[in-house]
Amino acid sequence: MDLEWTVFVKRKGNSEAVLLATFQRPSAVSATASDFGLSIAEARQLLVELQRSVAQDQICAYDARRRCCRHCGAYRQIKDWRPRTIASGLGEVHVRVPRVVSCLCLPEPPDDDDEPVELRYSECPIDRLVPRGRTPEVSYLCARHGSSVSYRSAAQIVADDMTGLRTLCHATLRKETVGESGPKLGQTEPPGKADDGE
Ligand SMILES: [Zn+2]
Repeated sequence: MDLEWTVFVKRKGNSEAVLLATFQRPSAVSATASDFGLSIAEARQLLVELQRSVAQDQICAYDARRRCCRHCGAYRQIKDWRPRTIASGLGEVHVRVPRVVSCLCLPEPPDDDDEPVELRYSECPIDRLVPRGRTPEVSYLCARHGSSVSYRSAAQIVADDMTGLRTLCHATLRKETVGESGPKLGQTEPPGKADDGE
């Protein structure tokens, strides 16, 4: 009889467990050395699923906390959900993000059609979380390697070897190296660790 494992992830306080992966191996009698443990491909796929699940759940929780208007407290409707790809240190994360209809509690000047300006706008609550579509960890890696080798080589190092991102434009490396991430190059740890306790 084959051995089988099922991996779930569950947020504390949330009753729903999400299936991440299942693994199968031959029984101990027929197993070979190549059946021992997880393969690199299996482990990477598990990390991808874990990252996607955590990120999507985080987006939903973050949205729920910010759904009510911060001025009047009115519940705001979701206009739609849109797919978005975020570059993370564990590769691309494909998630769905909500667009929330802005509240009309504050008087706004009418536009050319005499509609309140805010009526035409919606906001994405997670823009505050990942404003540039990539995590600070990816920005840090870009800036770190972009300062030591060519931008194209650094893009390949960060994308292929470190994060598994399928594409990373050399222009992104240049932007992170000479832009906002540049002054942080002196730090020795990635932003997630370096910012702890602030
Ligand atoms: Zn309001």
